[in-house]
Amino acid sequence: MITLQGKGVSAGIAKGRLSFLKRTSLSVEKRPVENAGEEVERFNAAREIAADQLDALSTTMVDKVGEENALLFEIHRMILEDTDFCDPVIEIIKTEKVCAEYAVNTAGSRLAQEFADMDDEYMKARSIDMYDVSRRVIEILSGEDQAAAQNGGPVILAADDFTPSETAQLDRGRVLALVSRQGAANSHTAIFARTMGIPAIISFGEFLSGDLSGKQAVLDGETGVLYIDPEPEIIRELEEKEERQKREKAKLEEGRGKPTLAKNGRPMKLCANIGSVNDADAALAGDAEGVGLFRSEFLYLGRNDYPDEDTQMMSYRKALEKMGNRQVVIRTLDIGADKQAAYFELPEEENPALGMRAIRICLTRPDLFKTQLRAIYRASAYGNAAIMFPMISSLDELRRAKELAKAAREELAAKGIPFRQDVPVGIMIETPASAIISDVLAREADFFSIGTNDLTQYTLAMDRQNDSISPFCDTHHEAILRLIRLTCENAHKAGIWCGICGSLGADLALTKTFVDMEIDELSVEPSRILKLRALVAEC
Ligand code: PEP
Ligand code: MG
Repeated sequence: MITLQGKGVSAGIAKGRLSFLKRTSLSVEKRPVENAGEEVERFNAAREIAADQLDALSTTMVDKVGEENALLFEIHRMILEDTDFCDPVIEIIKTEKVCAEYAVNTAGSRLAQEFADMDDEYMKARSIDMYDVSRRVIEILSGEDQAAAQNGGPVILAADDFTPSETAQLDRGRVLALVSRQGAANSHTAIFARTMGIPAIISFGEFLSGDLSGKQAVLDGETGVLYIDPEPEIIRELEEKEERQKREKAKLEEGRGKPTLAKNGRPMKLCANIGSVNDADAALAGDAEGVGLFRSEFLYLGRNDYPDEDTQMMSYRKALEKMGNRQVVIRTLDIGADKQAAYFELPEEENPALGMRAIRICLTRPDLFKTQLRAIYRASAYGNAAIMFPMISSLDELRRAKELAKAAREELAAKGIPFRQDVPVGIMIETPASAIISDVLAREADFFSIGTNDLTQYTLAMDRQNDSISPFCDTHHEAILRLIRLTCENAHKAGIWCGICGSLGADLALTKTFVDMEIDELSVEPSRILKLRALVAEC
């Protein structure tokens, strides 16, 4: 038996034959051409076909991996049109008088390498996207089909790394699990595997050698261990673990549809965080009692221009209709910092997380903000909506945002457009300033929801995007817990509810602390809800 340790990125146990991904061999030899102009035309025609494929893929992938994740294929489509990708290809064809396949392979590999060399983890992870797009174009040029990359199954599929396209198009019936030599935990490949429930382990390095192909294996996606030619003892252990997990899941299912009550009978509302209308299905499947955070900025990302009022209205309306009587808290635009859309033309900043983001943009561009507010109010006629402003740090900001909400209502009323007057208007508490003055803010807000991701970043002065400082980041830091307690106490003194919608809400080690603080709502990834319900009942 050989035991290999990798990085588990998608939990689950799988047993089967190991098979290395047989990619179609690509024709990338340096073939000289007579007519460079014709070759550029071949390249442009292949780009058009690739764009059509990606359009189709992003539509079909919405159901499989959700709207937010499927956006990746729109990004791939943008790469196809990007001059950073096209110009060097055309340049190579023209100056070296070579075939388009070679030019795409050369320019695409260079670009992928440039991204791989970047310091920023997010940009590094984009390297695989460059490779993915180049490969798609080369396959079209050489008449080969990416679907041929699928091996017979069912197998544990191994590769150097999987491109997002390969992972997204995997046939769940033929692939038991994924294992790779390289990869990143936050890559789209890992996200897709988790969303589709495929166990996955990455970063085995060269230990995952091609000689292992065809061998029997068993793996645990939680611990990241892969056993080749496993001993019967190991198989039994993992089968028992799988059975145990199934039983635990079945036990949690008993809580479905029931209210969430702590030992002392106090209710705790368990809601879902969503980023798109499609995620509302996941919220319902997870038994969410509402949506505590609809990250509306995803409607603005992955596009070339602002979504108009009608487009936004339809998205909010669909989410509200899906959730029926359950409340949907729509967080207004939180763009900036790590969430950028080029068409906003935001200024280059030294410290974007401390700069022009979220409510600061909305108060600076009232027309943009009012378009969103009108869309939310119009949608409010179709369900149980609430509005939440992000990144509030002063009473003045809250008042100005509420003034604009009032103006949006007046504009709709003047046109006789129906909407609900009583939509609650709350704020996120995600700066130390807002937590400290939460007594003042509570008098003019209808509810608080604590964004612990940003509250942690700003309280501890630790960039949430920077992996290298994670050893310093104590997410249970007393300063954060005191700010949460203070905020909740001030909310209750003013008679309003207080929830948590940042990742800390799903931290099971803190559930008892939050129950004791009398937090009213936890809003988390939908798959966490049943587990939390069971745990709250024990607190
Ligand atoms: C937060 O900051 O905790 C939060 C929920 O908002 P986001 O993660 O979208 O910044
Ligand atoms: Mg935030």
